[in-house]
Amino acid sequence: MTTQTIPKSSNSNVENWYLVNYAKKITRPFGIIGALFGLIALFGYAFNIEPLYRPFANGPATHPITALCMLCIGLMLGVSNNTKQLPYLIVLPLIVFVLTFIRMLDLLSGSSMLTSLTPFSGTVEAQLLAGKSNYMGINSSIMLMGIALSLLLYNQHHKAESQCFAFISLAIPMISLTGYAYNINDFYGQMSILTTTIGLILAISSITTTAGHGAVKAILSPYIGGKIARLQTIVGYLFPTIMGYLMVKSLSSSESDLFGLFVVAICWFIILMIAISAILQERSDKNRRIAEHQLAHAAMTEPLTGLANRRKFNQVAAQTLTDSERTKQAMWLFIIDIDHFKKVNDIGGHDMGDRVLVEVANVLKRSVRNDGLVCRIGGEEFAVILSNLDGVTAHIVANNIRQNIADMVIEYWSEQHGPITASIGCTSNQGNTTIESMHKLADTAIYQAKNNGRNQVVFMPSVPAV
Ligand code: GH3
Ligand code: MG
Ligand code: MG
Repeated sequence: MTTQTIPKSSNSNVENWYLVNYAKKITRPFGIIGALFGLIALFGYAFNIEPLYRPFANGPATHPITALCMLCIGLMLGVSNNTKQLPYLIVLPLIVFVLTFIRMLDLLSGSSMLTSLTPFSGTVEAQLLAGKSNYMGINSSIMLMGIALSLLLYNQHHKAESQCFAFISLAIPMISLTGYAYNINDFYGQMSILTTTIGLILAISSITTTAGHGAVKAILSPYIGGKIARLQTIVGYLFPTIMGYLMVKSLSSSESDLFGLFVVAICWFIILMIAISAILQERSDKNRRIAEHQLAHAAMTEPLTGLANRRKFNQVAAQTLTDSERTKQAMWLFIIDIDHFKKVNDIGGHDMGDRVLVEVANVLKRSVRNDGLVCRIGGEEFAVILSNLDGVTAHIVANNIRQNIADMVIEYWSEQHGPITASIGCTSNQGNTTIESMHKLADTAIYQAKNNGRNQVVFMPSVPAV
């Protein structure tokens, strides 16, 4: 029941981190974009429309297997969602893993096992014979295998490892992009700009599946550590990249290759450092936030019964009154005062008195809706704040509370000394009013209930019960 427990600070909960939520929202559209481009490239092969898989006339092409892998990965990311795992989808990254694995074997052993599995292999061979590039290069293979592994691990709930592979996959298209930007062929090799872009989109999409974990979580944190990490990541990447671009322009071609490599290495080293420090910072900041939350909770809680205390009462009462004036819904205040409580202390001792207080608190928790607030505002005085209910329901709730208290069976007390009862004074905020005046009216109502013989509910001003 949320009535008595002070809500957890929403900020300490990763479900409420807006950047993490945004990141999770891009998983599916990015996946669908990747799948579509894979499909378009295959369409290009099927209908002989070369620009669909080779954007620059003499540049590298997206190989049919690469396109097929993009389609599989994109489908998995586009169809699955973060809350629901669809087990049969695992077959898609498995296909990608097998295909890229065969490609790696081919590259290492000089075999050509993949050719027999390649759709439109005739077109590919004709283009190779004509001297055009159409390979699934080592970089595309590593990238796609990395994403496939990341998704397989995610599916098996190994989120840290999944994120690690997704980052490795992201590095490949980023290196290739740097190559295109710096005009260093070796950086992109046979990886077409299309493969590079879609690879980037798919790698980002697969990283966002674990946005609520590890380094991504730390970098997307709404707290100071996350803010610093984001700024550092952007500056740490852009600064060396732009400086490198300017330097490469002034170097000879062999020097520029080496320098480009140096820049890429520096960028990724910086990002790695930022990710590690963001994780460490987020960990220590989390402990601080938990301690702060516990302190705030303790400051608003009454230790004997665990109910909200008078400070919380004042806060919630003021807020409820403001809301009630805005929404024109009545706010109700019930004050509950245990009858002859002094007798319990005098006869049963202070411990028995405490036990009765705890039992009454439990009854109140059980008797009040989730959106109400139950507090212990004084020695044997409790308050309930409710809104969104009419007078008849208010009578029912107040009488239920009274009856439930009277029905309590307290060991070593009830049998010998009879039931514990309470008098309840109720009021609502009709017209212009303040919490103080409502409190006074409720007190007057209690006074009347005591004078009328206790164990009763009095509404002031009176409210029809039916
Ligand atoms: P009435 O029916 O008129 O309300 O009589 P009462 O005896 O309940 O009222 P009174 O205000 O005279 O007594 C309240 C008693 O509550 C006095 C005080 O010792 C006791 N009390 C206050 N806080 C605590 C507490 O935390 N634990 C215990 N055991 N007793 C408490
Ligand atoms: Mg009292
Ligand atoms: Mg009393």
